[in-house]
Amino acid sequence: MPELPEVETVARGLQMTVAGRRIVSVTLGKTDFIDDPSALETHLPGQSIERVERFGKFMLVRLRKEAASSTDVAGDSLLVHLGMTGHLSPHPVSEPPLKHTHVRFLLDDGRELRYTDARRFGRMAFLPAEKLPTELKRFGADPLEISEKDFVELLQFHKSRIKALLLDQSALRGVGNIYADESLWRSRIHPMRIAAKLSGQDARALRKNLQAVLREAIALRGSSIIDFLDADGEPGEYQRRHRAYGREGKPCYRCKTPIRRVIVAGRSSYFCPRCQPVPRIGRKRAIRRKTVTAKRGRTS
Ligand SMILES: [Zn+2]
Repeated sequence: MPELPEVETVARGLQMTVAGRRIVSVTLGKTDFIDDPSALETHLPGQSIERVERFGKFMLVRLRKEAASSTDVAGDSLLVHLGMTGHLSPHPVSEPPLKHTHVRFLLDDGRELRYTDARRFGRMAFLPAEKLPTELKRFGADPLEISEKDFVELLQFHKSRIKALLLDQSALRGVGNIYADESLWRSRIHPMRIAAKLSGQDARALRKNLQAVLREAIALRGSSIIDFLDADGEPGEYQRRHRAYGREGKPCYRCKTPIRRVIVAGRSSYFCPRCQPVPRIGRKRAIRRKTVTAKRGRTS
């Protein structure tokens, strides 16, 4: 599932290659991942792609009507979520479409912006200007923009496990399993620790490391785990830098202890049992249990 760095990579690529182009027509194939397919056919032709931006884990293709002046604040948008296997990239119209091409936007320069998606876990929706704020309101802060004060407060107000909070899109938008695990490993924080119980120092370190991990991943055009490709059809490179994610049983880069996997919030979480010690409460309970067992052992 593409996370913030992968989506940012695709959005930047599209911004460079298709911004400013006008959509001439829309051709649809399978449409079960599109909110209201006919809205795309009705509203997109004639509109220009003003810019392509990332919002959390999805892209917003900002549109502009031919007649609209540049002072118009908000126009319509096309929301695109790449799901597991979605690709959105421009192709010469003469090039035969790949298998699983479900949406084709003919552009005014003779190219086609094509959406291919083998598994169709993605989502596409036409959002008129007036509906956009409601759609975006459900999402939390951008992890690259959140201030230190806001991040520390966010953690203080959540009694969920830190890994679950990082994945919660209504708290922070754009972080998924890979970058949550990587930033927790870098911060030496166990994924099961309670967010509200982290020290201010830990919280500040986590924000700093999360931002560093995301920026480094963007610089390497994201992680290619299944078949992520950027808008030019190139895979990302950040998977080579993973220190925790997907490394169960392999030695920790810091202390050589084998990386372990635990399920938190229904997701696999990779961590170093030595660098990222278990939450203190869990440890106390474990010690208490051990003591009880030992006492029982003595009396029986
Ligand atoms: Zn370690």
